[in-house]
Amino acid sequence: MQSEETRQLIENVMEELSQRQGFLEIEDDQKRRYVCASAKEILKTTDKVIKSYIRVSTENNGLMRIPAYRVQHNNISGFYKGGIRFSEFVNEEEVENLAILMTLKNALHRLPFGGAKGGVHVDPRKFSEKELNLISKKYVQRFARDIGPNHDIPAPDLGTNEKIVDWMVGEYKTIHPGQAYLGSFTGKSVDNGGAKGRREATGKGTFLSYAWLLNEWLGEHAKGQEVNRESQWETVQDLREQEKQGNAIRVAVQGFGNVGSVAALEAYKYSPIKHKVVAVSDRFTTLYNHDGLNIEKLIEFTRKGRDLPANRDELVAAGIDAEVKPVKAVLTIETDVLILAAVENQILEENMKEVQARILVEGANAPISLEADQYFEKVGKIVVPDILANAGGVIVSYLEWKQSRVTELYTEDEILTDMSKQMIQTLKAVYDTYFSSVEKTMRFTCFALSLERLTSLLYRHGKLY
Ligand code: NAD
Repeated sequence: MQSEETRQLIENVMEELSQRQGFLEIEDDQKRRYVCASAKEILKTTDKVIKSYIRVSTENNGLMRIPAYRVQHNNISGFYKGGIRFSEFVNEEEVENLAILMTLKNALHRLPFGGAKGGVHVDPRKFSEKELNLISKKYVQRFARDIGPNHDIPAPDLGTNEKIVDWMVGEYKTIHPGQAYLGSFTGKSVDNGGAKGRREATGKGTFLSYAWLLNEWLGEHAKGQEVNRESQWETVQDLREQEKQGNAIRVAVQGFGNVGSVAALEAYKYSPIKHKVVAVSDRFTTLYNHDGLNIEKLIEFTRKGRDLPANRDELVAAGIDAEVKPVKAVLTIETDVLILAAVENQILEENMKEVQARILVEGANAPISLEADQYFEKVGKIVVPDILANAGGVIVSYLEWKQSRVTELYTEDEILTDMSKQMIQTLKAVYDTYFSSVEKTMRFTCFALSLERLTSLLYRHGKLY
């Protein structure tokens, strides 16, 4: 989903809210329309876009000027918050879209944060560790005035990790001597004040968002509830029935990094309902095995930044029995569930009809276009959208940020239990609303819950007059 589509959906949802009798306790239709139009304009636009160029001397005596961004979308619900991405595809539009989605995600999960995102236009694989260290420090130097524990709190994202975040914290501390610095970033290493379980949180939360629907919501929360969405309802029941009859639910995962590998492992190990992970992919390869892949062995092989095994010799070295398929094959392979955990814009008009999965879960941000989303809705598939599914990381980031303020360390169990509790509250609210409503996609439901909250905050803060 691109930023135009995100804005379009904000527009559609705000139009509906403006017609909802009693919304914000405003009875006068004209006043409510005015207030909603005002909120729509604020939320469709961005508070601040900061672009800079990072100058880096490379180890071969070269010199580069690399575009870098920090976009602060909105902070009505709390300090700006969002990851920093290192990727050769980073551009202003992409970072802005991701910042808007952060605002919506934090509001949907009722976290006291607004939305921001950062990006550096580099392929981190083409730089040495020393060069990456320099790029990371320069990023903080460039944006030092714009970030901080009480203003804008970055974290890792695609192409960045706890090592890079630790370097950034170190630089932040050097620039601001004597000031609190631990809360300036989340996603730090545990030794450096990070939260235990942060690295796994997004992948675990992504799998939970789907598994909870099948395992808990279907059984407990749907009792006696009116269900208007017959085909989606059937999809969930069919899968549950299939498993009860001894056929494990098939899962395919695109992306085998922080999010994808952990989500795949969760599926592989999940005991309440039997799954088999039939396909995984990374930027070069799809691996397929009809009987299920050994995810533990694949994680072992890819430890220390290696890609998935991509030829016979590597498969033998990894102890994996799999067919090697083209990189995009994972999207259209025969499977029940498809977890998208790589990059944006993967399922679009041209390939949406080839998708065989009946449930799609967005671990990555914006991998499905608005058009494909609406098509899946029509044909009875379920799409669990990014702002619902991939919030595990930012929920744990909130705990890490809180921990840095009270200098008290939470155990991994406490962190992951809190994360699940928080996610389940939102999952219940979304699934209850989605399954009892008609026609609207689950993404629309999530945007509506989130925009209701943001509009209400803007109104209470006196910003909509
Ligand atoms: P990562 O860098 O650890 O892993 C990315 C994976 O995707 C790698 O396996 C890579 O080979 C693969 N990949 C990259 N480009 C690809 C392409 N064009 N086609 C297929 N595969 C490709 O990144 P991550 O942290 O796992 O993040 C994955 C996605 O999840 C991103 O969209 C990110 O914004 C989103 N996300 C991450 C977090 C987090 O906490 N890490 C939180 C929320 C959302």
